[in-house]
Amino acid sequence: MSICYSEEINDDLITTTASLPEDNNEGSLRPKSINEYIGQEKAKDNLYIFIQSAKMRNEPLDHVLLHGPPGLGKTTLAAVIANEMGVNMRITSGPAIEKPGDLVAMLTNLNEGDILFVDEIHRLNRAYEEILYPAMEDYAIDIILGKGPSANSIHLDLPRFTLIGATTRSGQLTAPLRDRFGVSLRLELYSPEELQRIVERSAGILNVKIEKEGAYEIASRSRGTPRIANRLLRRVRDYALVMADGIISKELADKALSALDVDHLGLDAIDRRMLKSIIDFYNGGPVGLDTLAATINEEAVTIEDVYEPYLLQKGFITRTPRGRCVTRRAYEHLGLDFVGQQQIEL
Ligand code: ADP
Repeated sequence: MSICYSEEINDDLITTTASLPEDNNEGSLRPKSINEYIGQEKAKDNLYIFIQSAKMRNEPLDHVLLHGPPGLGKTTLAAVIANEMGVNMRITSGPAIEKPGDLVAMLTNLNEGDILFVDEIHRLNRAYEEILYPAMEDYAIDIILGKGPSANSIHLDLPRFTLIGATTRSGQLTAPLRDRFGVSLRLELYSPEELQRIVERSAGILNVKIEKEGAYEIASRSRGTPRIANRLLRRVRDYALVMADGIISKELADKALSALDVDHLGLDAIDRRMLKSIIDFYNGGPVGLDTLAATINEEAVTIEDVYEPYLLQKGFITRTPRGRCVTRRAYEHLGLDFVGQQQIEL
């Protein structure tokens, strides 16, 4: 049985955590130092100690793995680390490394102490991972030249460097690669209060006039994600300039965001579709991830990485061994009577 809603799935939703072309001025909003980097206190506290210790020992920082949903500040944090260590950072990503030579070239072009940032490291070709093992462990690589009996192996020493890997799916990393990271930090969704500070900071940089309550309104509708908070801020700013006096108040933010179809908790059309599907077709759950994905015509990984974390944080769904269930709170948010077969209480 395949059940699909008739409305089109819109990949360009304003609340998507993916980076959109309109986010291309993200650079100006990126915090540069650890003090400017808002939230993620646990990760920051740990990092601060590791950075200071590495500096005192005059050694590069241990390799760092950053994991967490998109848009939470993994790239930004890597740049902050480079800045705090006073070194350069080179950026690449798992899918961008198309042949072993690409990776070898990146590694051999590093300077002593540099940081190599590999985004989406779980998408790095498994065969090329093996180049990284000795590079990470012994700062060296062995290159095989030629084929068959005439093949030669060349041993190349590399400068001491730090690899920072970012991933939305640490579970997909192979164990040998994961084990070679000395530091593994998980970034969490931000609280509305932290996002409010991020919105106020970004408004300052963008010269946007905003009231505290206006910033909080945007923050609480940003799915715990700074990238979305900054995007919503820019859209609400446009609305404020054209439709009002340019100042973002709570009322104005509410009007603008409602016009953009972002509800008062930041849920978008796909979140609502997902919750309603579980309610309408599976009596509130449990429903397996793959079945749910087929029902709402989304990839299972997208549901897991992008939609679920926020719905779990808000207490709208639970994950059970038998599948996903919708909670009473979600029924109430959607204005429905709680009649699910599974009487789930939070
Ligand atoms: P990721 O690499 O996890 O997808 P990014 O590092 O690209 O996320 O962050 C997206 C945007 O969010 C950045 O441009 C930055 O402006 C903002 N941002 C992320 N984390 C923070 C933070 N802790 N404080 C302030 N702004 C942040």
